[in-house]
Amino acid sequence: MQEIFAPATITNLTVVDPNEIRNVEFTLPREYEVGGKFYPIVDEMRPGTAFLAKPFGTRTGRQRRRMYTRSNSSINAKGVLQTIINDTHAEKADTSVWWQTDDVTAFQSAGATIPILMNFARAGTALIPYEHCLAIEASNLRLEPDDEWPSMRFLGIAFSTGITPFLAHIRYMKALNFGRNSVCIGAHYRMVVSVENHRQLMEHTELQETAAKFPQNFSYHPILTREWPHDWGYGRGRVMKVVEQCNGKELIDLEPLLAIVPDIQNEHVRLCGSKEACWQLTEGLEQAGLQTRSFRAEAW
Ligand SMILES: Cc1cc2nc3c(=O)[nH]c(=O)nc-3n(C[C@H](O)[C@H](O)[C@H](O)COP(=O)(O)OP(=O)(O)OC[C@H]3O[C@@H](n4cnc5c(N)ncnc54)[C@H](O)[C@@H]3O)c2cc1C
Repeated sequence: MQEIFAPATITNLTVVDPNEIRNVEFTLPREYEVGGKFYPIVDEMRPGTAFLAKPFGTRTGRQRRRMYTRSNSSINAKGVLQTIINDTHAEKADTSVWWQTDDVTAFQSAGATIPILMNFARAGTALIPYEHCLAIEASNLRLEPDDEWPSMRFLGIAFSTGITPFLAHIRYMKALNFGRNSVCIGAHYRMVVSVENHRQLMEHTELQETAAKFPQNFSYHPILTREWPHDWGYGRGRVMKVVEQCNGKELIDLEPLLAIVPDIQNEHVRLCGSKEACWQLTEGLEQAGLQTRSFRAEAW
């Protein structure tokens, strides 16, 4: 069957760190024509999932298929897909470079569109954005069902733009008062964010405000690894350190992370970052003989 791509307009584009990280917002049309018939676009994307877009590649000069995790919540922004994209600096980096260029700004000014993959839903009567995962698995960060997460304690660990799925979780939970009601104290979400420097902090003020507004449900621990302002009041350095031993074996030092979350055994741990970061955490927990309530991680 032929794939359906709806044209999305870039409705917001902001620089987080020049030439490195940008916030990108796509707005989908309300309806889209397929085979001479108009279908409404229904947006019920689950927090923690990614959509598929076709941006351009600077290296190849061609349109490429790439996935981006949504950073906002469909609950209060129907049809508006936000994400955060970084330049990977990988040898063959292509689209991630393009997103940081003036080409994209020109694209936005001209009202040019980016194709976003759709699927048919509701017995073929509507279109929905494609989601990269439909079931909860250890290797993805799709949020647990609404009758489960309000009674869970989460520890989210994000490396750089790995914050995107967690922003979607937190914004969704916040819209639902973190699941607090007369009988339930709601979910607890502890968010650890690791970035190189102050410029790369994403939605820092919003996360600080959420922590101040929901002190019983949310706490925020940003950590700067390479440089920090003199008055930086949060963490510095790496949350996990690899220590090379005399015998050549690598020991993973989790002390900085455990200083933030000493009761890690009680947490449902979620991580988004590189494959190496996932390996370091699982290996470090194993070496320390620590078992968490659950562990799910997504690496790009
Ligand atoms: C589920 C998911 C969610 C994501 N969410 C985000 C997000 O929110 N923000 C973000 O910045 N990035 C995200 N990414 C990563 C993003 O999709 C891109 O991979 C990243 O931006 C790098 O793009 P790139 O074009 O520069 O390079 P790459 O995608 O790394 O590609 C570089 C080159 O290598 C080739 N290549 C890549 N993989 C293979 C392969 N397996 N085999 C052979 N050739 C290959 C490509 O064709 C390309 O020419 C996500 C990825 C996934 C899978």
